[in-house]
Amino acid sequence: MSEFVHLQDLGQTSDKPLLNLTEPDLSPLPKAFTESLEPMWKPVSDNVRQSCECGLDDTCALNLPKPKSREEESELVERFINGLKKLFEANNNWTFLQPLLLTMEQCVGCQTCADACHVFEASGRAEIYRPTFRSEILRRAYFKHVKGGGLISRLQHGDIELNWPMIARLAELAYRCNLCRRCAQSCPMGADNGLVTRELRKLFSQEMGIAPKELHERGSMVQLAKGSSTGMTARTVRDNIEFIDEDISEKTGINVETPWDVEGADVLLIHNAGEILAWPENPGAFALILNAAGIKWTMSSEIAGYDSVNYGAWYDDAQFARVALHHVEAARRLKVKKIVIGECGHAHKALAVVGDRLLLGEHNIPRESSMTLLRDIVLSGKLDLDPTRNNFPITLHDPCNLVRLMGVVQPQREILRAIAPRFREMTPHGVDNYCCGGGSGFAIMSPNNFGDWRANISGRKKLEQIFNAFSDCLASEDPKYVCAPCSNCKGQIRDLFVYHEVWKRHHIGYGGLAELIVNAMRNVKPGFVDWEWH
Ligand code: SF4
Ligand code: SF4
Repeated sequence: MSEFVHLQDLGQTSDKPLLNLTEPDLSPLPKAFTESLEPMWKPVSDNVRQSCECGLDDTCALNLPKPKSREEESELVERFINGLKKLFEANNNWTFLQPLLLTMEQCVGCQTCADACHVFEASGRAEIYRPTFRSEILRRAYFKHVKGGGLISRLQHGDIELNWPMIARLAELAYRCNLCRRCAQSCPMGADNGLVTRELRKLFSQEMGIAPKELHERGSMVQLAKGSSTGMTARTVRDNIEFIDEDISEKTGINVETPWDVEGADVLLIHNAGEILAWPENPGAFALILNAAGIKWTMSSEIAGYDSVNYGAWYDDAQFARVALHHVEAARRLKVKKIVIGECGHAHKALAVVGDRLLLGEHNIPRESSMTLLRDIVLSGKLDLDPTRNNFPITLHDPCNLVRLMGVVQPQREILRAIAPRFREMTPHGVDNYCCGGGSGFAIMSPNNFGDWRANISGRKKLEQIFNAFSDCLASEDPKYVCAPCSNCKGQIRDLFVYHEVWKRHHIGYGGLAELIVNAMRNVKPGFVDWEWH
């Protein structure tokens, strides 16, 4: 059993993790799943435990080095408090000050949000994963250090003693939330605990240089230097796309050619470049569809113009702004009419939602989701579609950033209703969906045993939903398809399925939406959806 943890316990100087989960603690899963359940995850190595701050729970995302002296600890606490003050200044927080203040001031402690959180539920309601747990630490620190709270304030809002162990555990805790904002949607006061997590990450990154290597060093920094967080330069990406075009042409019997750097095009399509490497059939399918529909479109070989990812959206405003400006600059130079964002949820968040606070004047180039463009093409009748080609069970995973953040809920369903006769919804779905468990960067983070944590905790609810959606055909050998129109979600679903041998045991595969459209095109050779690679 996990023991109850109080807020002030985060300040314990002992290295011992505050939370040790065992299998019986976790939320139960459908029987068909538990029969094939892997054992719980392996512990963090002694080496990492000795050199890094691992005192929160059974995993470690940051590998934060232990300070070497008391002086260093005090300096880090000081930097945290300085950063905290900046977080609540209009000059220093141009993105989210207003909703952050609302969340600090208006929470009434009703705990409605707790029932909405998949991480909290999956862990068997472990206290440290409660949505308000980390927010309450920030709230108390806000009233004490920003508002200068005295005795009455302490009585009203509670007190908190910030020391280095607490701050180190809080940094780790900021990476146990998917930023899915399901809790925010349920809050009667409009408070947003997902936003609090993101703002904490920002404080740690911008003021203390603390961020996961996968997001910062190997993510934003590589993208800004080379053009893509995958490390692909413009030349490499063009070579790869050329190869994909050839492959798709051979596979479909239709000549596919991707246009590059076309000035004045109607559409600049920006994919998550991860698709080009991991799921090449997705950009291939887009090229085939847009060409077949007669859209005047292009891809860009400008820096970052061919990779829609913007990891800053998860942890750092400065990195976010630098990447977002590259994206619109690529569009501006080509004088395109609009940017269309491929199948990537956080790219929707970055370019279409958060970008609204940054991209003004000449940078305010229209931005659209690929879901609406694909819907318009499918419903226009420009493609000759035969839905019986998709005659297998299909369910839809809703990427949080598309549905809950941006309100793009129906276009993908209108497409599936038109091309997939055996489409069935997950429960719940749409704006009430559950995160895949890979949101906020987790899908690309697997340091130490963090991949095990993703597979057993943050992804647990999604696995349950997928199994339930196919409960009528789980035992059948026939293939079943989880449509996940988001590169990040696909990465998490791939890892979940590999970890739990979902394809091997239940013949459930996954893929994007564009692939299903091409699979239904009558003039394409049958069998575009390829089950072999699962
Ligand atoms: S954040 Fe909202 S739902 Fe959660 S405890 Fe506070 S008021 Fe209640
Ligand atoms: S944003 Fe999502 S993962 Fe984070 S606390 Fe809220 S519901 Fe839980």
